[in-house]
Amino acid sequence: MKITDVEAIHCRVPDVAEIADGTLDVLIVKIHTDSGLTGLGEVTSQSYVCKAIFEAPRSAQRRHGLATILKGEDPRDVERLWQKMYYETNRFGRRGAAIHAMSGADIALWDLKGKIEGKPLFDLFGGAERKTVRAYASLLFGETTAETSRLGKEAAALGLTAVKFGWGPFGKDPQHDLEQVRAAREAIGEHRELMVDAGHAWDWQTALERAKLIEPYDILWLEEPLSQDDRRGYSELCKRSPVPIAGGEGDVTHWDFEDLIERGIHVVQPDVAFCGGLTVARKVSEMAAAAGRRCVPHCFSTGINLAASLHWMASLRHGDLVEYCLRPSPLMRKLVANLPPLVDGRVIVPDGPGLGIELDEEILEKYRVRE
Ligand code: MG
Repeated sequence: MKITDVEAIHCRVPDVAEIADGTLDVLIVKIHTDSGLTGLGEVTSQSYVCKAIFEAPRSAQRRHGLATILKGEDPRDVERLWQKMYYETNRFGRRGAAIHAMSGADIALWDLKGKIEGKPLFDLFGGAERKTVRAYASLLFGETTAETSRLGKEAAALGLTAVKFGWGPFGKDPQHDLEQVRAAREAIGEHRELMVDAGHAWDWQTALERAKLIEPYDILWLEEPLSQDDRRGYSELCKRSPVPIAGGEGDVTHWDFEDLIERGIHVVQPDVAFCGGLTVARKVSEMAAAAGRRCVPHCFSTGINLAASLHWMASLRHGDLVEYCLRPSPLMRKLVANLPPLVDGRVIVPDGPGLGIELDEEILEKYRVRE
């Protein structure tokens, strides 16, 4: 069996707002084969750049585009092809956009492998520990505490048992942060889990003060309080913080995560559509388990990312939590025709071959960017 074509399809909504929302602009990957089967993947990054990384023609050694690297290969050799893509993009890749683009190819190859074998991905990953995965709502803080409160109550009414608030007006003023966290906790009640995403707001000393300030509100984790590159800051903060520290949504390859784990991070958050795909994500969750840390997927784009994250989590002993995006974008809500449903605070893992999802081709065409 051979790969005959690799398509990188850019979709975006008409007005892409400058907010922390990954559902507005995505790159969909389709890998076609001579068997007639097609694999689906997704990249959540700079779509114009990643599309070019797929479409770049062959060049000198280790400077090729991904489509030309993959064409003619046997799609079943997923991990060999990850190594091939990594090596043959080495001069411009290794980290950043080339790895983001590889994530989409890797997810599509796993989807294909499942379709070829007629098995859902969780079976390829060793079998399902669970058929549903507990979801946590991922929300942006309201501009006012009243708005935060309203959003928290809505998430609770949907049956979600854990809620994360982040970004927006958070991080600028300690008193305001405290009021926002209090509003969130009061809205969701004392029995639901509450997480806070600080959106790179502070240095480690300020983060430590804020962690102490919000600790009485029973915070499951404090996410990305520092710049993603303040690695020494993470080492200092993780040793001292009374609240577990989470991070890693901006990291790629298992080497980045090895560093985060060595620095003491308590919860790692790889994004399968960004970190290098399911091949990398699965390695990271193994490393985290070996170090006694938690791994919870970052997942805030389309139903492709959600389905891939669900199969991965379904196969892990300690994998019963996934980020669940409640944004209204049609690329999240409609692009996958059979979007995995949320029932009583849990998302049902698709059980068809591969990812077990189908795209709504009309939605794909409606939001497709045409040069
Ligand atoms: Mg985050």
